[in-house]
Amino acid sequence: MSNLTANDPRWTSWAEVPAGSDFPVQNLPLGIFSTVDAGPRAASRIGDLVLDLALVAEAGLLTGTGIDTHHFRGGSLNALLGTGRQGIRALRERLSVLLRSDEAVLRDDTPLRSKAMIPIDRAVMHLPVQVGDYTDFYSSRQHAYNVGCMFRDPKNALMPNWTHLPVGYHGRSSSIVVSGTPVRRPMGQYKPTPDATAPVFGATRQLDMELEVAFITFSGNALGDRIPTAEAEEYIVGLVLFNDWSARDIQAWEYVPLGPFLGKNFCSSASPWIVLLDALEPFRVSGPRQDPPVLPYLQQQGDHHFDIALEASIATGDGGETTICRSNFKHLYWSMAQQLAHHTVNGCNVRCGDLMASGTISGDSPDSYGSLLELTWKGTGPLKVHDGSERKFLEDGDTLIMRGHAEKDGVRIGFGEVRGEVLPAMP
Ligand code: CA
Repeated sequence: MSNLTANDPRWTSWAEVPAGSDFPVQNLPLGIFSTVDAGPRAASRIGDLVLDLALVAEAGLLTGTGIDTHHFRGGSLNALLGTGRQGIRALRERLSVLLRSDEAVLRDDTPLRSKAMIPIDRAVMHLPVQVGDYTDFYSSRQHAYNVGCMFRDPKNALMPNWTHLPVGYHGRSSSIVVSGTPVRRPMGQYKPTPDATAPVFGATRQLDMELEVAFITFSGNALGDRIPTAEAEEYIVGLVLFNDWSARDIQAWEYVPLGPFLGKNFCSSASPWIVLLDALEPFRVSGPRQDPPVLPYLQQQGDHHFDIALEASIATGDGGETTICRSNFKHLYWSMAQQLAHHTVNGCNVRCGDLMASGTISGDSPDSYGSLLELTWKGTGPLKVHDGSERKFLEDGDTLIMRGHAEKDGVRIGFGEVRGEVLPAMP
């Protein structure tokens, strides 16, 4: 067993992992949790147990990794991520050894184990990082094409720049919330009818989700430097699921000529566990052929996409749930490495704890579209949900849930979920 790597499917843990769990010993994501008796602190997770990392460190079990108790305090993972890829890799490898079947040091220390391994239903999860800057890309070709068809025409659906650079915009970090936080239906200006010449003010009538995956960065380049595509993945900690809530009517009225603003910045929701890029290594796949060829600074060799199944569902007040789309992270046209290289090519600096979202991830088939805008084609073909009612966009009381996982050779590496209930607009 000592020759196995942390990703090996033969690696098993003494800790109980329920069948179908997103969190086997090969995952070991990072997050921030609190309990009734103690405030926010860093954790990993196995099965349905949260592992209190500060207690593991205090017991001397992380000696030699360069990681210490103080890295786990402070209510966010930023200090821990400051130890860089080397620190996070050493931590994950040590944890995987401590949890493996034949390793007794934590398994047989009953007092420590009962204190440091807490059932997930006793944990409150928090946003894992204090997000510095938030960038949102637009990297799914099918999504960009669909939106172009709806708002322009199918012949000119993709703008001329789209196949040459990963289009993106700077979002706002202050309104990024953790899964479970409700979203308030936003107020704003929009056109009451398509041919109206003046707007009205009111609650959005077109509240939508965007099925995305976001990556979080280690400390990056200094201002004026850039990150080459070939090195870009070294700056990526891991991924979270991301719902970029959108108010389509507000967005459609305001976006010319500078792009997304109040139709976007009222809320975005992230899943609480950062799944490390190291844990996703077995799920690398090649991306789509890029035609026309990209400029040299965006060219890359090897596999830089990841096969991660994604889905979104709507739950209503009766507790029932309807899956409305199934997509995959591998559908992106631009890789994360290309996004990060492009982001910094002008010398823009990336810092520890920045969050970069993929943009809505739509596959080729209509049931894989990652937004209601596309699934209902601008509201013209409403979806039916389990209670028989229809949805063009989200209604008050709806809960939107996104889930994601990768699976291969019997190992499932998952993200858990990101969910949020829609609350009525403030009167
Ligand atoms: Ca978005």
